[in-house]
Amino acid sequence: MSLAGRSRFFANAMGAVADVLYPPACAFCSAALDAGFASDGVRLCLRCRGAFQNSQDACLLCGMPVGPHVSTENGCSSCRRRDFRFRRVIRLGIYKDELRQACIRAKNPGADPLAGALAGQLAARHHQELADSKFDALVVVPQFWSHRVTRTHHSAETIAEVLAERLRLPFHRRLLRKPKRTPDQSSLPRTARLKNLDKAFTVRRGTKLKGQRVLLVDDILTTGTTANECSRVLRAAGAEFVGVAVIAVVP
Ligand SMILES: [Zn+2]
Ligand SMILES: [Zn+2]
Repeated sequence: MSLAGRSRFFANAMGAVADVLYPPACAFCSAALDAGFASDGVRLCLRCRGAFQNSQDACLLCGMPVGPHVSTENGCSSCRRRDFRFRRVIRLGIYKDELRQACIRAKNPGADPLAGALAGQLAARHHQELADSKFDALVVVPQFWSHRVTRTHHSAETIAEVLAERLRLPFHRRLLRKPKRTPDQSSLPRTARLKNLDKAFTVRRGTKLKGQRVLLVDDILTTGTTANECSRVLRAAGAEFVGVAVIAVVP
């Protein structure tokens, strides 16, 4: 068992003890969870689950909501002209209202339980789609090294850990790297985002992904520029297929 796996095993064991002492509560609204919640192990109450997931059909390529019975194998009206290097976006919901609040809160230090619960709901809701995609491994959108050192919590990494555990797939934590420090993408106009990420990502030297189907994990998908740049690098390293899993897409 890896170090991360071992620490999660002990965390789970401690969690089981804590459940006896303190009844489990929803990781978002703190409502008490009844005994039935544990069947899928996701610490979210039914009300929050309902508020987070979006029941509208989604574009297979970019994850944006589309009308019913629309074929989106080659994208929808909002993404068809984008040259995406990933082929799928699997997401829980839309970045608004409660899910927006949850994503913001999940970034805070100590918010692992919430980030993990959101990942658990994503895995449970899209279990079949994730299984059918036959991924070989997970990677996470990386942070610049100094951010990794100074911040104890990286919500996307927690999400990837939980997804890897639930999907029983290897998680290549440091396979993707970000050697370039870049301003926050959300602070830039659309045209500057691409330039900002030029040569921002690399894969670890000696990485061979030939023929692999890789699931790239992040917390939020905004314009897709970051995920696209990571996918380009993964494909250049041999990956045959890149899918993206996020908690929320920004409409
Ligand atoms: Zn709740
Ligand atoms: Zn689309």
